[in-house]
Amino acid sequence: MMAIALMAMLLAGTPGWPPLNESTARVPLTVLIDDGFGVGADDLGAARAEADAIFRAAGIAPVWLHCGLVKGKRQDPSDRCTSGAGSDGIIVRLRRSSRLGESYRLALGEAQIDIQAHKGLVATVFADRVAITSDRAGANASGVLGRVIAHEIGHLLIGTNQHSLHGLMRAVWTDFELRRSIGLEWQFSASEARCMRAEIARQSERAGEPGVEQWSECDATRRLSSSPKSWQPR
Ligand SMILES: [Zn+2]
Repeated sequence: MMAIALMAMLLAGTPGWPPLNESTARVPLTVLIDDGFGVGADDLGAARAEADAIFRAAGIAPVWLHCGLVKGKRQDPSDRCTSGAGSDGIIVRLRRSSRLGESYRLALGEAQIDIQAHKGLVATVFADRVAITSDRAGANASGVLGRVIAHEIGHLLIGTNQHSLHGLMRAVWTDFELRRSIGLEWQFSASEARCMRAEIARQSERAGEPGVEQWSECDATRRLSSSPKSWQPR
């Protein structure tokens, strides 16, 4: 038992990325995609696959609901689309941005976070900026869209708008990086993955009383996320 406990401590204290382990039980997360932009079904499917792979590597199994309207018809007529994502579900809105000038300086998405409560349920991804940025970088647009979706959901789950120095949650994505698909650049860190899994479990159990400050699996992760820069593709 000592050896196991020691090993667990060492693993917990080691910065790095989660190993891909098929036997790892994955935490389900409902994500409602509200497509007000009109991303094509094939592109959205590819973007979802990209985001899905990123989350699965972090031990999270997203349940995707596509609730966009295309020609006035709902893509997915399931009940969850009309009733919303539920109290613990996340909504990602795909939208056209209101301004595009100097698009290389503009964030590709934003997450609405209650900084006090470290909580957020709604993120917006600017699909037109993603398209322009991908085009400029010579990167696959639906792949980039999937990474942006995963990045913004990461903000919501970790509960901060700050960024890490490395990996998917870093502040700056260069054109060169956008063209590549090197795992570590586009994955959550082990610490971020643990934090997100703990938050999903906590929210679905509705544990904890409002107003009571609790120790959180995310405390260390949030301290590590100290880069205050707004997120920019470059
Ligand atoms: Zn960000």
